[in-house]
Amino acid sequence: RFIAFEGGEGAGKSTQARLLAEALRAAGREVVVTREPGGTAGAEAIRKLLLDTAGPNVEDGGWLPRAEALLFAAARSDHVERLIRPALAAGQWVVCDRFLDSSRAYQGGGGGLADADLLDLHRVGSLGLLPDLTLLIEVSPEEAAARIAHRDGDEADRIGGRPAEYHARVGAAFRGLAAQDPGRFAVIDGNGPREATQAAILAAVERLA
Ligand code: C5P
Repeated sequence: RFIAFEGGEGAGKSTQARLLAEALRAAGREVVVTREPGGTAGAEAIRKLLLDTAGPNVEDGGWLPRAEALLFAAARSDHVERLIRPALAAGQWVVCDRFLDSSRAYQGGGGGLADADLLDLHRVGSLGLLPDLTLLIEVSPEEAAARIAHRDGDEADRIGGRPAEYHARVGAAFRGLAAQDPGRFAVIDGNGPREATQAAILAAVERLA
């Protein structure tokens, strides 16, 4: 089974991915936890290009949305072909922190690219692989900002470097994707305590298994 976590920064995706993997392992499953962009040596190298080389905004020398989308698609291709597909083929569960829908929300909703183009890139790069379940964790902008303020300076700067309006478009795009495909998505309220979010996630995963 292939489960992806999606949502804006500060939603708690990484923490919840780890907690879900622990719960699945306790239930006897073999689990691979991974993240995007990244997950393989090649994709981690592309992650550096994406996140460390350029500023977060086009005006500051950041990537233009098309080039950015191609780099994300290339990183995802490497990750899918070398890690995700082999793990699934071996019967393991894959829990991934961000996947295709992040590109649709950030480069699509945020950057203005057409969703059809992003799906085309995904078809070419990763043969269209989709998660069995996509957990969209939603938190209010206030809660997200409070959590991000606790992160290390570089990361908080990068996220804070983008205008609030960009993040609003990303959030709206995520909600639109979930509404389009309710069979694949579960929308999880991430505003409450970690345990409450985790319980909602486990309930959604149980419906899958
Ligand atoms: O929060 P996380 O470490 O998963 O995010 C990595 C960064 O990459 C985020 O700040 C997000 O803005 C960005 N990103 C993006 N487009 C994607 C995936 C992530 O801009 N498709």
